[in-house]
Amino acid sequence: PAAHDTVALRQPVDGGMRPMLIGGAWVGGASGNTLETRNPATGAVLARVPRGDQRDIDRAVAAARRAFEGPWSRFKPYERQVLLLKVADLFEKHWEEIAQSDTLDMGMPITRTRANRNRVIGMLRFYAGMATALNGETIDNSLAGDVVSYTRREPVGVVGAIIPWNAPAAASVWKIGPALATGCTVVLKPSEEAPLTPLLIADLMQEAGVPEGVVNVVTGTGSEAGAALAEHAGVDKLVFTGSTATGQSIVRASAGNLKRLSLELGGKSPVIVCADADLERAVPVAAMAVFANSGQICIAGSRLFVERSIHDDFVERVAAYARALRIGDGADPATEIGPLISARQLTRVEGFLDAGTREGARLVTGGTRLTEGALAAGHFVAPTVFADVSDSMAIAREEIFGPVISAMPFDTLEEAMTRANATPYGLAAGVFTRDVGKAHRLSRALRSGSVWVNTYHAIDPAVPFGGTGMSGYGREGGTEHLAEYLDTKAVFIRL
Ligand code: NAD
Repeated sequence: PAAHDTVALRQPVDGGMRPMLIGGAWVGGASGNTLETRNPATGAVLARVPRGDQRDIDRAVAAARRAFEGPWSRFKPYERQVLLLKVADLFEKHWEEIAQSDTLDMGMPITRTRANRNRVIGMLRFYAGMATALNGETIDNSLAGDVVSYTRREPVGVVGAIIPWNAPAAASVWKIGPALATGCTVVLKPSEEAPLTPLLIADLMQEAGVPEGVVNVVTGTGSEAGAALAEHAGVDKLVFTGSTATGQSIVRASAGNLKRLSLELGGKSPVIVCADADLERAVPVAAMAVFANSGQICIAGSRLFVERSIHDDFVERVAAYARALRIGDGADPATEIGPLISARQLTRVEGFLDAGTREGARLVTGGTRLTEGALAAGHFVAPTVFADVSDSMAIAREEIFGPVISAMPFDTLEEAMTRANATPYGLAAGVFTRDVGKAHRLSRALRSGSVWVNTYHAIDPAVPFGGTGMSGYGREGGTEHLAEYLDTKAVFIRL
């Protein structure tokens, strides 16, 4: 069944026009140009959105500034909390619509978008809880006794947010939620590949009573709307999730007004399976560490290090798991693996599949595009496992963003640690062992923002998530997240 059979969608999925939100008004772009967004499973055009440019970004930033200095600055923390809880309740009510929007626009299986509910709504409620707890501290001066000092935590101001296409609902909430909790205003630039859910979310924000100009969504390309936002002198802080290369250009663009940055970038995350692990449990988790969302997850555990004594058996079991996965249109609840987002991404992934074979890796399963029957209309790739991979091959070094595992044996824990860390990225890592000592040693040694032991993908609103090295800096989730949207002011009072 088509996803939209079961719920009334408030936005067009028949190729119609979907305007963007600037200063409380649903508008087209200044240029009048539009972009089309397609369903990656079928190729059908879902909607057209404005192709925003510098002029639209200027208007949105001005609206965000007016709101920040005007009505929004008079909202008390308690009022922001109540508003965020109302937004969360509306998300609860409309979750099926949000889930179907993500599935249609970016291909993620509907079972997965539905299951993201608690993760996304839990985030909103976590931020709501924090809104009334953003306190400074009193400090006893170390030099003078007749001075009272304290700190205040103040919103940074207008936040520019640029997000990718691979999890639009979650990415939008991770940017807008903390802004609302801290008293900032936002201009969000969704990915041109999947702009529909962020627009739907803006709609729900409006319905909840978020004042005009507090949340603005400008659709458009990276090189026009995105670059204009990254450069804008009226933006105080930029939060970005996307590729490392774009992150680097954003760092350069932000230099003009030294805006603050948080960067959630790419990865090449290692998964280490020790011979003592519970293999029944490790096989599906290690497989889905890569195959979930067709490998289009920043934390994809794409380098699989397996202790030599169990290597061949383990790799064969992961390959058997891969062969049994049901691939198809994400709108079908039976689908486990959906399409890649675009023809461009398909070409990129196919390039890595060729490179793997050419560089001498052994193809255990997959390795091809799938074009049988209805699959021909979308960008589907078979879940793929390469073995006999060496650390220097492209498939072991570069982020593929596709369903491709590079398996490698190891002999000692030290070797596994060293090879796992031999990457400029540092986003996530997985460890499978029943030995608590090994679990702790590896957790300490691995250079990454998150380490999962005997599990993978776990994200929690109260736990900070983010990277190190070329995976970026800044954290989302936990109390550190709110700190990213706050400045600290020190006050001294002479008695
Ligand atoms: P991308 O970098 O191509 O695009 C991300 C966003 O940046 C889009 O909205 C795009 O329009 C915009 N953009 C592109 N060029 C720009 C420019 N010059 N200036 C300003 N904005 C610009 O990434 P993508 O292909 O959409 O997403 C995939 C990447 O995102 C992968 O590398 C993945 O690892 C990463 N990612 C990271 C995380 C994380 O939390 N660390 C989460 C999801 C995705």
